[in-house]
Amino acid sequence: MNYISTRAGAVAAGTTESHAKHFCEILLEGLAPDGGLYLPQTYPVLNDAELTAMRSMSYPDLAYDIIHRYATDIPGADLKAILNKTYTAKVFGTEDITPVKTLERNLHILQCSNGPTLAFKDIAMQFLGHLFEYVLAKKNAEINILGATSGDTGSSAEHAMKGKSGVRVFMLSPHEKMSPFQAAQMFSLHEKNIINIAVKGVFDDCQDIVKAVSNDLEFKAKYKIGAVNSINWGRIVAQVVYYFKAYFAVTKSNTEKVSFAVPSGNFGNVLAGHIARMMGLPIKQLIVATNENDVLDEFFKTGKYRPRKTAETKQTSSPSMDISKASNFERFLLDLVWRDPAVVRELMRKVDHEGGFDISHCPYWPRLPAFGFISGNSSHAERMQTIRHVWAQYRMEIDTHTADGLKVALEHREADVPMVCLETALPTKFEASMVEALGRKPARDKAFEGIEDLPQRVIVMAADVALVKGCVVRVVDGL
Ligand SMILES: *Cc1c(COP(=O)(O)O)cnc(C)c1O
Repeated sequence: MNYISTRAGAVAAGTTESHAKHFCEILLEGLAPDGGLYLPQTYPVLNDAELTAMRSMSYPDLAYDIIHRYATDIPGADLKAILNKTYTAKVFGTEDITPVKTLERNLHILQCSNGPTLAFKDIAMQFLGHLFEYVLAKKNAEINILGATSGDTGSSAEHAMKGKSGVRVFMLSPHEKMSPFQAAQMFSLHEKNIINIAVKGVFDDCQDIVKAVSNDLEFKAKYKIGAVNSINWGRIVAQVVYYFKAYFAVTKSNTEKVSFAVPSGNFGNVLAGHIARMMGLPIKQLIVATNENDVLDEFFKTGKYRPRKTAETKQTSSPSMDISKASNFERFLLDLVWRDPAVVRELMRKVDHEGGFDISHCPYWPRLPAFGFISGNSSHAERMQTIRHVWAQYRMEIDTHTADGLKVALEHREADVPMVCLETALPTKFEASMVEALGRKPARDKAFEGIEDLPQRVIVMAADVALVKGCVVRVVDGL
């Protein structure tokens, strides 16, 4: 499988690319040199017999059957071994990895949050941890991952990368802005290859520092700076798997259609659903749910894509969805415009120079229903109401992000189409909101009791690029 950039297209089209790229190459690369994102040249399409064969597969076997079509430069036996190591009941609590809980007829929750940090990001990140170790060992290379987090990504990356050889993680987080549980999950890790840096500022300051360091190409090369952010293709492809798993769990035959509701931020999770659909999984609707930061909802309703400024980005009770622009959206855009990278280039130029674009009068816009996307949003009050409703009606505790998805799902439900709502985090991560909604703290697994009281290790510093670089230099050069 060859990969193309959303902005350059086929290798032959007079670009600077000298050869087609494969999975392992783009895995560590992040953005393409032209500023675009990598996508496979085509999506493998599964036939009825292949889908039927997948029905009875275990999670790791299913993951192999999907991912090997994209990671064609990893020998099959090696990929199998990596997936068998990743998707175990020990790490994810059940053999099913992502079990489905049925609330009532045709209304289900896909439980994706049973990994080490209690958010769905673990599903992809745990795979990435093993994959990075494998690829780096083969290349005899090292990587220093530099990231910024508002909470979930950082802890998920750290728990996936801890103790892995060839990998160090420098994770920037906004000082005293994460939930106590999120901070404890990161700062109580005492691993040599995990370095926590709390920046005196907000999440965007952290992100700006990461960008500044990555734009210093000399520093980036010398200190082997890499990323595991949500545009990483390895993460997207791992997320495709649970859409299949859920589809098979709620249907008996491949003639049935299923809809999915996805609490969305950077558009990584729901993009994986889009890819599953392009591969032939019978998905009816893909429901993009946002909170008050509704840049995606606005696009799917109006055709206008208008990334917000930092000052316009609201702090909400579903903080992992508080984004100003949806990084992975560009990948869907390429599919929407008949895979013409010149169009994507022009649209992204408008984003950079004119603050956004409007395709409501373009021939692309009427195509949207053919991709199954619809959208909606929730307010804080509506999420609280949904959490109470789900507890009262079904005796299940859901977190604020999952509540967002469920709220929008209920608005678009069709009587005869199973609706699967993706659970993206467990309530324990966001205790204060749960207390507000239900008047009590959510049940917490024994393994996490008292985690906030463990000794913490974190370096606090001013929001200053030079200070962060200095920290990287000291650690990497062993000063
Ligand atoms: C990351 C995250 C999201 C948003 O997912 P995207 O892939 O960025 O759209 C939603 N909910 C939770 C709990 C998250 O951690």
